[in-house]
Amino acid sequence: MAGFRALAEQVRNPRLAATQRRTALRKCLERFAPYGHRATWHHLCTRAGIATQDREPDPERLVAALAELEEARALWLSYEAEFAARRRREKHDGIRQPDATADWHRRTWGGRDIVSCASPQRHPTARLAVVLRSMIVAMESGRPRRDCPVCGGTRFAWRPEPAGRPADRTALGPVCAGCGVVAPASVLTSEALTAAARSGGARVYSAA
Ligand SMILES: [Zn+2]
Repeated sequence: MAGFRALAEQVRNPRLAATQRRTALRKCLERFAPYGHRATWHHLCTRAGIATQDREPDPERLVAALAELEEARALWLSYEAEFAARRRREKHDGIRQPDATADWHRRTWGGRDIVSCASPQRHPTARLAVVLRSMIVAMESGRPRRDCPVCGGTRFAWRPEPAGRPADRTALGPVCAGCGVVAPASVLTSEALTAAARSGGARVYSAA
């Protein structure tokens, strides 16, 4: 299975057909997709001006989308490396890491679903690297907050609603009405979480 870099070379390879270069970019998302595969694809296409279903997009736009993904991946890999080194030091010194950050790392290690989003079409519009950096800073601060770590919005709605059928409650959590990220519960204050649980989720979607 080709690695991210080999696939990135294929995206940039002018001798390949646009469809092949597009396929290579989609495969890059199997290696690194901060919003999950579908939402990250939708985000990159939207920002680069590519229709998500266009089989033969302008190669220059594909390369622009790749550059945005690479920037975010470089940021994330350097954070993972720095985090791993710090963990080794802390373990050596017998320091326990806060559970919330540990859970987040277990889920996101390798770069998938780092920032969960409400749906494949509902995610932040800022550059991936900017959003990732904001989320990293929020998780690292260890201080619960009442606003969204990505956009600063203060309205959240729990999705699916806590009263929903148990089968619907497997994913998601407090979704930001401003940008669509699912804030990790550990970054929000208990007041913000309570308000999110009370809030009707449907309004978040109709306002989008
Ligand atoms: Zn937000």
